[in-house]
Amino acid sequence: MLNLDFHPAGRHFLQIPGPSPVPDRILRAMSLPTIDHRGPEFGALGRELLGKVKNVFRTENPVIIYPASGTGAWEAALSNTLSPGDEVLMFETGHFATLWHRMARRLQLEPEFIGLPGYEGWRHGVQADMIEARLREDTGHKLKAVCVVHNETSTGVTSDIAAVRRAMDAAGHPALLLVDTISGLASADYRHDEWGVDVTISGSQKGLMLPPGISFNAVSDKAIEASRHNRMPKSFWAWDEILEANQNGYWPYTPSTNLLYGLNESLDMLLEEGLEHVLARHQRWAAGVRTAVQAWGLEIQCQDPAVYSPVLTGVVMPEGTDADDVRRIIYERFDLSLGTGLGKAKGKMFRIGHLGDCNDLTLIATLGGCEAGLKLAGVPLKGSGVTAALDYFAGHSLEAAR
Ligand SMILES: *Cc1c(COP(=O)(O)O)cnc(C)c1O
Repeated sequence: MLNLDFHPAGRHFLQIPGPSPVPDRILRAMSLPTIDHRGPEFGALGRELLGKVKNVFRTENPVIIYPASGTGAWEAALSNTLSPGDEVLMFETGHFATLWHRMARRLQLEPEFIGLPGYEGWRHGVQADMIEARLREDTGHKLKAVCVVHNETSTGVTSDIAAVRRAMDAAGHPALLLVDTISGLASADYRHDEWGVDVTISGSQKGLMLPPGISFNAVSDKAIEASRHNRMPKSFWAWDEILEANQNGYWPYTPSTNLLYGLNESLDMLLEEGLEHVLARHQRWAAGVRTAVQAWGLEIQCQDPAVYSPVLTGVVMPEGTDADDVRRIIYERFDLSLGTGLGKAKGKMFRIGHLGDCNDLTLIATLGGCEAGLKLAGVPLKGSGVTAALDYFAGHSLEAAR
């Protein structure tokens, strides 16, 4: 039942790793009247944003925009490039990799799911050497694609996509490289062209600071070529008709007009600030939040400092504490939403989002809510994470982080 007695004052703290808070500037842009999606004004908007959006993917190739959540763009990537019965290599980094793997099976692909043994894979990134070894075995080139998640939102671990590309090249394997950066885009460094990615999948409600509802496929020439001959049934997701209509700034069906207003504003905000600056800002926040977790004496879910996520941090609870109990206390007492543990991590950890429209003080408040909630839940803390993070932010200017 909806609790109608719950009327907290002030702003809710939405510190889950997506949807992330939507800045007022984007909300205002989206509040304009919906226009004719076949009219001249819309065509001009479409052309402008289809050009600008390439900058965040760091690509010169087309970026396809769907009126769908990120899951739709996963399906679009698979259904445009592969055929039923195709073998694909997927890597288990966490819950989102697991869901994508399940989708591949439902689409009648033959996915092979590799990873580190036990729960290890959920605390580390993709192991490029394991991918290289598997591809070297596949002398008949039966594997048609390698599918990896760039920023595993369920754990707070990123993966080195350039290393995956190098592994594929070292094995001399022609498989396509499909990468989910739904939560990494515009918060973690990502380079579609430089890393030789064939399809990059992303979504609106994470680093792009938009509400949920639109998602993306950035493509390569090789991916487009594959889409001309693949045999998976596709219609709504088919790239060909969208790319053709996009030439003039339109879509073959009704696009999410107001979300596209928001996207246009989001791209202006990101590009005016400069992507490098945006990424440095996220790295610095993540480092401040990790300083707090370490001061509490708690463990970070990611066990490889080289791939700590700049987007979110997974905080592991001591044995005997249910992370969801802690989250509930924090939500009820402080009106602060944190990410739940997903799949194999359920109850073991919670996730602090530090992406998009944040600043030092929203994160200090977030850490304050966490610290108080942990104490209320009876979790023993070594020291004050809030003080440690305040000192970190005070002592590390953004200029120094760049
Ligand atoms: C959020 C997310 C998804 C799912 O996207 P939806 O918009 O919920 O469909 C998939 N993969 C990753 C890495 C995500 O962060």
